[in-house]
Amino acid sequence: MSKFDPKSGNFNFGFKHMTDFDAPLAPSQRPSFETRRQGDILLIKTPRGSVLGLHSRELEVAQLDAAVWNLDESSPAAALEPSIATEIREELAQWQASRSGQDAQGDLLVRSLTVNVAQICNLACTYCAAGGDGTYGSKTKTPDLEKTEAQIANLLGQLPDGESFTLTFLGGEPLLHPDIIERLARHTRLMAAGRALRLRFDIVTNATLVDAERAELLAKLGAHVTVSMDGAPEQNDRARITKSGRGSSELVLKGLAELLKVRDRLHSLNVGAVFGRHNLDVVGAWKYLSQLPFQTLKFDFAAEAGDETASRLFAEGLCEVMELAFAQGGEAELRRLHVADHLFRTLDDQLRVRNHCLAGKNHLQLDTNGRFTVCQWFVGQRDEDLGGQVQVDEGERRARFERDLVDENNCGNCWARYMCGGGCMSVNKVKNGNKHERDLAFCDRTRHTLLKGIEKYVEARYNTTLDSAGAEREIH
Ligand code: SF4
Ligand code: SF4
Repeated sequence: MSKFDPKSGNFNFGFKHMTDFDAPLAPSQRPSFETRRQGDILLIKTPRGSVLGLHSRELEVAQLDAAVWNLDESSPAAALEPSIATEIREELAQWQASRSGQDAQGDLLVRSLTVNVAQICNLACTYCAAGGDGTYGSKTKTPDLEKTEAQIANLLGQLPDGESFTLTFLGGEPLLHPDIIERLARHTRLMAAGRALRLRFDIVTNATLVDAERAELLAKLGAHVTVSMDGAPEQNDRARITKSGRGSSELVLKGLAELLKVRDRLHSLNVGAVFGRHNLDVVGAWKYLSQLPFQTLKFDFAAEAGDETASRLFAEGLCEVMELAFAQGGEAELRRLHVADHLFRTLDDQLRVRNHCLAGKNHLQLDTNGRFTVCQWFVGQRDEDLGGQVQVDEGERRARFERDLVDENNCGNCWARYMCGGGCMSVNKVKNGNKHERDLAFCDRTRHTLLKGIEKYVEARYNTTLDSAGAEREIH
């Protein structure tokens, strides 16, 4: 067994036989992953027949001798020599007992706020979860700015020097009101002036309204911009349509061209694509979107009742995309995918993710009625309301969000728990009516995707020849 130590950059431990990765298989020929548990160690047999190990508590991965897979095999043909079996058991026991990971730090300081600057949208996407028109069912289209400024000032006032604060502008479509964005950003900078706080401005936009003026505003903020687009125009235009029912892609691409003119002054330019029963062509979306100059690609699945088959198809599409991205450009191209980058960071740092997201803990959401909630998907839900005062009720917030999601959501001994962090509260609520009752389709696609990511991580860290050969492979 040979284990890559991300801290030292060296290999350690010493099973004697290393397995080589075979030539890549075409998607249609690919069998799926098989897994077996040995305590905290997950044995993974990849579709190519390699055997990998994951220490699920310490977040270490290893490339194992294929013989490990037959350790407890009862059939005589597969049974191991007793001395080899003993040697492998001892090495696995030694690995099981090892300690090298750490818990990601957890506290309840609010370092991130999303403000709905417009609860109305200029598009009418068929799958819109914000009330179908960006309003979340509210008649209040824009926030009371004086109150919002006081709420932001209060949150900044609670942060000690040296901290960071992210303000995200969201809608509906936030660029319907660039004046509000400009005012809130100016106020936030003013409140932070003279203090050692790191400010960051993010925006999620459909980009259809981006003109030279709006692009300049985002450039002045040095914003992290995420453009919502679900794939090539023919794919995107099926669901992301204007109020008159026309596709929005032409407008998006015009907006993107404006953003590219100021690209050097934007902090980052990313794309977010939504999949679900309405859109399952993950590979097609990647082939198109990865050709555009986006830094990262975030592919999300919109959960809904009865989505189990679609969920698995999405996961399989994402795995195929990981395969293609890695073949095309190695680790760098693979890590343009948000899901892969997150996994690589987690394994490199060996930091146990105990919370899938920081909503309610380090992140809050503010709607146009001036009410705080957990995240954008809980806007307007009475039972998730955290109050509409300038100061959030800290006792209430702490009581609700103190526990880590892996514990709150009863993830128990799931091997994926410290990479997944307990799942999405919004998905749980959509599927089960309870934000802490796990959605099994979410768990299935998370584990499915993680297995592919772990395989790619091992390939990236162990086998650079596959990486560079892969770069020459043609993508159809
Ligand atoms: S995959 Fe499911 S059980 Fe496992 S950590 Fe995530 S939410 Fe919890
Ligand atoms: S609850 Fe779900 S949708 Fe909301 S921030 Fe967390 S991961 Fe995102």
